[in-house]
Amino acid sequence: MFTANMRPIANRLPDYAVETRQLSKTYGARGRQPAKVALDAVSLAIPRGSFFGLLGPNGAGKSTLINILAGLVVKTSGSARVWGFDTVADERTARAAIGVVPQELNLDPFFTPREMLEVQAGLYGVPAAERRTDEILAAVGLTDKAHAYARTLSGGMRRRLLVAKAMVHTPPVLVLDEPTAGVDIELRQQLWSYVKTLNAAGTTILLTTHYLEEAEELCDRIAIIDQGRVVAHEDKHALLSRLDSKQLSVLVDRDLAAAPDELAVFSPELKDGRRLTFRYKPSRIQVGAILAALDAAKLSVIDLTTEEADLEDIFLQLTRHRPDDTANG
Ligand code: ADP
Ligand code: MG
Repeated sequence: MFTANMRPIANRLPDYAVETRQLSKTYGARGRQPAKVALDAVSLAIPRGSFFGLLGPNGAGKSTLINILAGLVVKTSGSARVWGFDTVADERTARAAIGVVPQELNLDPFFTPREMLEVQAGLYGVPAAERRTDEILAAVGLTDKAHAYARTLSGGMRRRLLVAKAMVHTPPVLVLDEPTAGVDIELRQQLWSYVKTLNAAGTTILLTTHYLEEAEELCDRIAIIDQGRVVAHEDKHALLSRLDSKQLSVLVDRDLAAAPDELAVFSPELKDGRRLTFRYKPSRIQVGAILAALDAAKLSVIDLTTEEADLEDIFLQLTRHRPDDTANG
């Protein structure tokens, strides 16, 4: 049913693999639950070929956005395009251009991985001669489980099978919605090496994750959403350099009633009488200058620690929650 629509996909090289403009979604009130604005005028542009990270705390609207792209949730207003095709006006073509690995591990327990991929390929109208079932199974490390019932597969294997399922129609855009939640480190590495290979071969990847280190390592562009709104949307390095911030914490040899005047220019915070904390911009201030000021104030440093800013700090600064907070409602 999708084959006739695949030609326009192959013939097109859009600048943006995914583009949303002022995309909004309000879930209607249900019983006692009031209506909920899940997306509020979200505009995103995901360049073709990029490895794009969509970050946000629980309830931010990540899955809603992905489900609109996949044609599973009906938007309230605004527009969304996949590979240049409008998700409403060109629904079928847009759907054929995207493969989605859902957040939930839903699999029919009585199908084997091989059967599942064949059924999925059939749904997308991939002719038998063009199916890549064995190649995909091998790529996700499930060759020896090809004939096992899905219910006998471990969580990590199920996750990889869902990735395989999303790839049967060779979509130019692959979306992974928190794919490594609950997946052990080794399998995570295996999954990432496969996804990186796909990206290197030209597939655009859209990933949502709670693991900030993961986004930092894999993604070249990052958007952060919070409570349905985009709070950051830029190149990863630009985002990281925006946070020109480090923290120095020192333990001094005696109790202080207040931070000495010599240190005022560094705006220290005094805790427990003996611990002074300085937030500074490494591009402007060297830690030695702070230590010299401590010396000038006749304070001996007994211990010190420094902390680098990372994506987590940016995240906290922009959303005021930790990424694993439950911020629903
Ligand atoms: P995320 O994937 O970032 O955790 P979701 O897109 O799942 O966020 O949810 C965004 C908001 O919309 C949350 O407040 C959630 O409770 C609400 N929500 C999600 N799905 C539904 C639904 N089917 N009906 C009502 N509210 C929903
Ligand atoms: Mg989600």
